[in-house]
Amino acid sequence: MAVSSMRCRCGSVISFSAIPHPNGFKIVPEEAWDHVVHGSGPGGDDDAVTRAREISYWLGYECTACGWMWIFEPAAGDTPIAVWRREDLGEGA
Ligand SMILES: [Zn+2]
Repeated sequence: MAVSSMRCRCGSVISFSAIPHPNGFKIVPEEAWDHVVHGSGPGGDDDAVTRAREISYWLGYECTACGWMWIFEPAAGDTPIAVWRREDLGEGA
């Protein structure tokens, strides 16, 4: 994220200054996650940190005021590619 903050559709400001972000998530493909956790098998010479740096994932930042989560694809820049909200939070803002 190159931008330091954004305004949620509810009007609250979501700051991206904290790393790791307390309401930030990484959405990782399962196969990539398995590769990070299990590596390339016996005899593999890469470690989990190296593997984690190589996988692609999406970022999600949840607005603590309303519960909407803004989804970003890091390679696509600072424009959210999706926004969603947990069903149990209702319609909301
Ligand atoms: Zn919000």
